[in-house]
Amino acid sequence: MTPTTHPDSIARRRLDTPDVDVVVVGAGFAGLYLLYRLRSLGFSTKVIESADDVGGTWYWNRYPGARCDIESIDYSYSFDPEIEKEWQWSERYATQPEILRYLGYVADKHDLRRDIQFSTRVESATWDDNASLWRVRTNNGDAITCRFYAMATGCLSLPKTPDVEGVKRFRGASYYTGRWPHAGVDFSGKRVGVIGTGSSAIQSIPIIARQAAELTVFQRTPNFSRPAYNGPIAAEKKAAFATDPAAYRHAAKWSRAGVPVEPTLMQALRVSAAQRLAAYEAAYAAGDLLALGNAFADIGANPEANETVGEFLRGKIRAIVHDPETADALCPKDHFYGTKRPCLDSGYFETFNLPHVRLVDLRKDPIKTITETGIDTASRSFALDAIVFATGFDAMTGAIVAVDIKGRDGLALADKWNDGPKTYLGLMTTDFPNFFMITGPGSPSVLSNMAVSIEQHVDWVGACLAYMRERHLDVIEPTPLAEAAWGQHVNDCADITLFPRASSWYMGANVPGKPRVFLPYIGGVDRYRKACDEVVQRDYLGFAFDGAAGARCNDGVICRLQPDVAMLIDIMAELGLPAIDTLWVADARAFSVAMAAERPPGPEVGAIADGVLPGAAGALPYRLYRPAQPGPHPIVVYFHGGGWVLGSADSDDPFCRDLCVRSNAIVVSVDYRHAPENRFPAAADDGFAAVRWIAANAESLGGEPEQLAVCGWSAGGNIAAVVCQRARDAGGPRIAGQVLVTPATDCDFTRASYVTNGDGYLLTSALIHWFWDHYADPADRENPKASPLRARNLYGLPPALVVTCEFDPLRDEGAAYAAAMAAAGVSVRHLDCRGQIHTSVISVDMILSAAGARAEIGNALRQFFGTSPAAEQSALRVALLSSRAESAV
Ligand code: FAD
Ligand code: NAP
Repeated sequence: MTPTTHPDSIARRRLDTPDVDVVVVGAGFAGLYLLYRLRSLGFSTKVIESADDVGGTWYWNRYPGARCDIESIDYSYSFDPEIEKEWQWSERYATQPEILRYLGYVADKHDLRRDIQFSTRVESATWDDNASLWRVRTNNGDAITCRFYAMATGCLSLPKTPDVEGVKRFRGASYYTGRWPHAGVDFSGKRVGVIGTGSSAIQSIPIIARQAAELTVFQRTPNFSRPAYNGPIAAEKKAAFATDPAAYRHAAKWSRAGVPVEPTLMQALRVSAAQRLAAYEAAYAAGDLLALGNAFADIGANPEANETVGEFLRGKIRAIVHDPETADALCPKDHFYGTKRPCLDSGYFETFNLPHVRLVDLRKDPIKTITETGIDTASRSFALDAIVFATGFDAMTGAIVAVDIKGRDGLALADKWNDGPKTYLGLMTTDFPNFFMITGPGSPSVLSNMAVSIEQHVDWVGACLAYMRERHLDVIEPTPLAEAAWGQHVNDCADITLFPRASSWYMGANVPGKPRVFLPYIGGVDRYRKACDEVVQRDYLGFAFDGAAGARCNDGVICRLQPDVAMLIDIMAELGLPAIDTLWVADARAFSVAMAAERPPGPEVGAIADGVLPGAAGALPYRLYRPAQPGPHPIVVYFHGGGWVLGSADSDDPFCRDLCVRSNAIVVSVDYRHAPENRFPAAADDGFAAVRWIAANAESLGGEPEQLAVCGWSAGGNIAAVVCQRARDAGGPRIAGQVLVTPATDCDFTRASYVTNGDGYLLTSALIHWFWDHYADPADRENPKASPLRARNLYGLPPALVVTCEFDPLRDEGAAYAAAMAAAGVSVRHLDCRGQIHTSVISVDMILSAAGARAEIGNALRQFFGTSPAAEQSALRVALLSSRAESAV
């Protein structure tokens, strides 16, 4: 992207000298490291913290049992090798006091406290556009100006106001896990009620139960939890870290969740039940927060796969808890495993076997009100001496919008984020220049080891400020395009997972009135870091700068591929596979057969039968997919892809199954003759011969007469298009519609999509040349039977759905064919799939982000056939329910 000049350069404006370069709000993990980093870069920095000491989360959350759930070796700073040597964690999951001591030790070691103003709350921050600085005000009446303003205020720092009727009426003692008294609380002999069963409650309940005379747990949603098996740090882990801390940290930084774990590609439903159980038992025994979710690749995306973990954990709960009714109430059933933050516990479920502990299932018996003496549910009154509110936080955005932040033209951040936060990379937001968030919404943050994510953000911000200083730039702001596209990418990532389906705090669902949007970035710490690094490498793509050196704007979008597509391309690159166009045809065919064998199989259909039909020059094999519902059905004749050289009924089998289920039609996948043995026009002639024969024999195939459509992918799309033209010219058979999926329609290789997408997206322009060279002589290529776009006229063709993909070399010729047919009066729908590549749409169960396109194809076919939408919808629902759901790569 060419940098452009910002019209309103601050070079022409007055720049006041601020009190400090940077004001940082918060002195937790993030604020402390930000102070250290900025100071070491030579920026004057003032930190403001409402607590009277450092620690953040670990200052406030002093409830009994509070400890980390990411192992302490991992949940610690990496920026100072001396600290790594000097500080030894006493156990695997350190307690809150130990983590607080650690943060105090880091603050002392680097003399951080001298730049921290404690016991002071920042109340407002206002951007002064004339002076290009922030004006910050505190509850003490301080007014401070700074060039840059950074919120290190934490994702989980603002406790949620409990939305329970009568909270203020209670005359006993009330405690909030997120604001626990420093002196501690002795519950001995007390009747205690705990509201909530999230991580804080699950950690504290077993300990409170040890002291209390009676403990009543008020549970609205049961949570998945499993034992932490806390204890000494495993010798192997210690050794792995001690041997080469830098390598260990590097692996963490480039991992999915900030903990060095090798991801698996194995899918839960592709192993036997016994293998699955063994994997879950091992993960359970590991006492690791991430192990179960990492046991198989599809747990986060495939409902059926996820359900196997859910049932495994429910089995554990039933085995631990003696009373079956209590056990059942403790079993999570309303959300998929991991879509609400799972917990690690120390004897949580066992606590419910104690005689003085009882569970109140608020789903059956909701809280009516808190009274002066206890809690009234719909059916009972509970007398209590103390209530512990473990009711969670206004997560991710709460602490940020709690400060009255005003950007350009007095725009309030709370107003801008009224429908949900909008950020670029979770670091900055448009109209709020020089305002940074550490682990803001739209960054991996709470879905990762926060220590790793915090360091990454701080390093990025530090490097950015240093970059600006070197170049005499004073103001940075993301562009609206970059911000909108990042929001889209964050949603794209979430949408291929099960996470948005849960009423979780990740979705803002725990706070009444909060907009329901998925707040963190789920694409992974590694991919996120790569994106942030790439933004910098591409000269701060998506940012505008201004300053003494002039103004510039490098507008653009990072992460344009759909997330699962990007992942697939990376996996393919890592495999180091040979380029097909460098192989002999026989080897290329063997290679594509081997690749096809590795894919998920696609959904179940009613029946599959192989047969033979007469082609243009001999018998052709075909494979017929029959829907589960009784027929007769319409028929879709399908032509596989493979550049007229490769492919078979096997190669496109999952897609044919998907077509069959979604369209509720018979799919006949025709194995036409291949080049170079049978060059042009063999494939086109076979395609037409096959359609004629299938139309003539529709009833014996179980089909409805006159209800025939064609569909093809890539070279198969080319054949389908040619078949439609030939059927028109020959006066039949009647074709109800055509679905051309990323079709080859022309032999012109100079279109823009060849130039921009010719390399790096699996189908390369070199490979397309290889296909054409094998298929057709240059003299034949302009023949409409090879290049249907070149037909003299396109009138009278069947209605069409043309699917193109943004990052496909064939995109523009597909689009041109759609436009040309439309210009000739054909009813055409052109679906251009954002962020997809040539192979996306047919990659059933692999590219989940293309499931919408597959659904559109099913809809289009049903429309061509004019089948009743209601009847079809219910057939589709039944079929999809009984088939395997789609799973992640
Ligand atoms: P915080 O630690 O929350 O610090 C923010 C600070 O900003 C606070 O001290 C707050 O007082 C201050 N502040 C906020 N607003 C203002 C204002 N307006 N003016 C002045 N000061 C302000 N993450 C993990 O990765 N692993 C774990 O095991 C883990 N365990 C957790 C356990 C608990 C009980 C909780 C609540 C969270 C846990 N987390 C864990 C998440 C944890 O919040 C982060 O790991 C990390 O501590 C966040 O650090 P931070 O500096 O970003 O924010
Ligand atoms: P939480 O996970 O949001 O749990 C809050 C609990 O309170 C939920 O069970 C919730 O029920 C319940 N609740 C809220 N409002 C209620 C109401 N009006 N009536 C009845 N029940 C109500 O909060 P948290 O336990 O403090 O944990 C927050 C996050 O902090 C964790 O997810 C984790 O990221 C972090 N944390 C980590 C650890 C650790 O192990 N290291 C410990 C504590 C916290 P619903 O689910 O129905 O809303």
